[in-house]
Amino acid sequence: MNRQLRKNDIITLKITSMTAQGSGVGKTEDGIVVFVPFSAIGDELEVRVLKVKKTYAYGKIERIITPSDSRIENDCEAFGKCGGCTYRHINYNSEKEIKRTRVQDALERIGGLKDIKVNEVVGSDKTDRYRNKAQLPCRNTENGVEFGYYASHSHRIVPCADCLLQPESFNKVSEITRAFMNETAQSAYDEKTGKGKLRHLYIRYAEKTDELMICYVVNGNGLKQEDKLIKNLKDELPNLKSVIFNSNTENTNVVLGSKNRTAYGKDYIEDILCGKKFKISPLSFYQVNRAQAEKLYTIAKNYADLKGDEVLLDLYCGTGTIGLTMAQSCKKLIGVEIIGDAVNDAYKNAEHNEIKNAEFICGDAKFAAEKLRADGVKPNVIIVDPPRKGLDSELIGTIVGMKPEKIVYVSCDSETLARDLRLFTEKNYSIKEITSVDLFSRTPHIENVVLMSR
Ligand code: SAH
Repeated sequence: MNRQLRKNDIITLKITSMTAQGSGVGKTEDGIVVFVPFSAIGDELEVRVLKVKKTYAYGKIERIITPSDSRIENDCEAFGKCGGCTYRHINYNSEKEIKRTRVQDALERIGGLKDIKVNEVVGSDKTDRYRNKAQLPCRNTENGVEFGYYASHSHRIVPCADCLLQPESFNKVSEITRAFMNETAQSAYDEKTGKGKLRHLYIRYAEKTDELMICYVVNGNGLKQEDKLIKNLKDELPNLKSVIFNSNTENTNVVLGSKNRTAYGKDYIEDILCGKKFKISPLSFYQVNRAQAEKLYTIAKNYADLKGDEVLLDLYCGTGTIGLTMAQSCKKLIGVEIIGDAVNDAYKNAEHNEIKNAEFICGDAKFAAEKLRADGVKPNVIIVDPPRKGLDSELIGTIVGMKPEKIVYVSCDSETLARDLRLFTEKNYSIKEITSVDLFSRTPHIENVVLMSR
C-alpha cells in the first residue's frame, strides 16, 4: 500500500499519455502513476483516487481544471457507461495520434523494434455509424424487455436507444423487437436463473448492397408467434433479407450457439468489398467497418505486390476476403480457416466471383500450415490475419520454414503483433513497412498491416 495516496483523496494531475486501452495516465509528484479513464492528454484535472496499489493508482475525474486542446463535446448519453466508445471526448486527429503512438510503443516495448517507424494512421471518413454489426443483450424491466450494451468488463446492461457507432436502422430493429416481445408477453433470458427466451439481438448489414440480416439468439429453438414478428419487421424494413434463429441454451458468455434456423429469406447476406461479392453467414467473420476494410485490403494487396505466378497462402482467411481480392493476381490461392461455415462461404465466394484458382482448408492454422509444409507446398507470399491473441510460436516457425519471400501480417492487436514481429525478425525476416488503419473509430482498437520480407 502506498502511503502518499489514499482512497478518496482528491489530487491534481496532469495527463501526459494514454494506455493501450485508452485510459489517460498522469504522475503524482511522488512518482505514482495514476490511471484516469475518459481523460485527455494535456488535461489538468482534479482527480478522486478510487484504488491504490504499490506503484500506481486508479482515479476518476472530479473536475477539469484546464481542458486539453484536443477535447471536444461528448454527444452521447451512454458514453463512459456502455463499454463501447473510449474517445468521444477528443478530436479525431488526436485519436489517430494516440493510436499511432500505441502501435509505435508496442513495437518498441514489446517487440524490441526500435528502428521501425509506423506510418500515419489511415483515418476514417466516417467516425460514427460505421459499424455493420451489433450484438445487443437484453433484460427484463418493469416496462418489459429492454435492449442495451454491456458496461465495460461486466454483464450489466446499459440501455442506449441510439448507439452512434451503429446505423440508425438498427434502432428500428430493436424497437420493433422490443414492442413484439412485450405485446406477446415473452421475456428476456436471465443469466442468473437460466430462464427466459431472448438472449441477444444480433444484426448484420451489408452496406454496399443494402441487405439486412437479423438473428435472434434464443434460449431454446425460437420465439412464440414468429410469423407476427417477421411481418412487423418486413413492414418496416424493406431491405430485410434474412431472419435467423440461433439456439444457445448453454450457461455461457459466448453469444452465439452453433445451431441456426432460417425463419425468413436467405441464410446469408451479401456485400461487395474491393469489387468482389462476399457472402456473410451469421457465424462467419466479416470486418465491421466496410469502407476501412477496403483500404486495409488494398494496402495488404500492395504489400503482397503479386506478379501472377505466385502461390499465395491466406491463413485465418475467414470467408476468403483478403485472398480472394488478390487471387486474380497470382497463380494459386490457398486459404485456411477454422470455422466450417466460413470455409463454405469462402468456396461460394470464389465461385461467385469466378475465381478458379482458389482452394480452402478447414482447420487450425497451425496444423494446416504444418501439413502444407510437409506436403512440400512453397508459398511465395503468406498472409496472416489472426484473432487478437496473435500467432503461436510454432506456427511462426512453420511459416518461416516455408521460406516465403514476403509475409503480410494483418493484426487487430498491436501488442500481440509486436510480440510476433520480434520472433519473425529473429528468424531472417525484416519489417519493411507498417501501416495502421482505423477500423474502429472512437474505440482504442486499431488494425495494422505489416510487410515483411526475407
Ligand atoms: N481474413 C479474414 C478473417 C480475419 S478474422 C477477413 O479479413 O475477413 C480471423 C479469422 O480467423 C476468423 O475467421 C476466425 O474464425 C479464424 N480463426 C480463429 N482461430 C483460428 C485458428 N486457430 N486457425 C484458423 N483460423 C482461425
